[in-house]
Amino acid sequence: PAATAKPPLQILLCSPRGFCAGVTRAIDVVETALKRFGPPVYVRHEIVHNRFVVESLKAKGAVFVKELDEVPDTAAPVIFSAHGVPKTVSEAAASRKLTTLDATCPLVTKVHREAEIHFKRGRHVILVGHAGHPEVVGTMGQLPEGAVTLVETVEDIEAFAPPAGKELAFVTQTTLSVDDTRDAITTLKRRFPAIAGPHIEDICYATTNRQEAVKQVAPQVEAMVVVGAPNSSNSQRLREAAERLGCKVAVLVQRASDLDWSRFQGVSRLGLTAGASAPDVLIEEIMAAFAERFAITVETVTTVKEDMFFPLPRELRPDAA
Ligand code: SF4
Repeated sequence: PAATAKPPLQILLCSPRGFCAGVTRAIDVVETALKRFGPPVYVRHEIVHNRFVVESLKAKGAVFVKELDEVPDTAAPVIFSAHGVPKTVSEAAASRKLTTLDATCPLVTKVHREAEIHFKRGRHVILVGHAGHPEVVGTMGQLPEGAVTLVETVEDIEAFAPPAGKELAFVTQTTLSVDDTRDAITTLKRRFPAIAGPHIEDICYATTNRQEAVKQVAPQVEAMVVVGAPNSSNSQRLREAAERLGCKVAVLVQRASDLDWSRFQGVSRLGLTAGASAPDVLIEEIMAAFAERFAITVETVTTVKEDMFFPLPRELRPDAA
């Protein structure tokens, strides 16, 4: 039978999307360590929240562990993921004399230092973030137990009872929704006008820029596909932003095989983006899958050009070889 013509589909490709400077650096740390020390190198937690990235590093000799106690006593280096670690983890590694390489994103480390400074000045720290996310665990773990209160929502802030006689400060996770965080900070400042905090918030440039691009594209399309992992905070926020701006279909997928094609029937304009930990090959895979079923045309919508770059940790720079 004659092939039926494919229905037309215009794809608006969000830019910026995908890898940020912190993720590029973290992957580079593992690859450089593999070259410098040879396999195995141990990595505590997924280096970045992407299965494809983790599997390809595994194939090169990286060994991923959940916790440090799974690492044998070894001369091989142990790498901490981009999300950062609590102080107890670096201390445990030091007491076991393990060689560590820290792939914590410099923008996460900046939040750690802010929290420490507030603590040294006698302030109780409020962290706006998502419970259980490794970055939140790492940031809370910079200070002694009880020195940080985690709040997830405006309701949490309304219900928060500050410790008596203490000044307050806030910091935030780097990968939150810009809009929700604005509301959270407004509530904090209304309840506690003297609260100390960062100039705007600690949300990083990559999170902000990817959300901005989605906000520009979402009102022009019927469906939005975000490439990213379910445990990737910044990817989840992109999907939510598209949904809030009226995309009838707003899905987060890891691979083309995750796409439920019944949801794209009748769609003629599609937005496409990727979270900060998703490589561009996965965007290409998704586009190829759409091209099999639709006659696609692709247009890139650029809201800002990024040129952020973070150098490798000092121990891994060429002159330290
Ligand atoms: Fe760093 Fe932001 Fe990328 Fe996280 S999303 S690794 S904070 S640049």
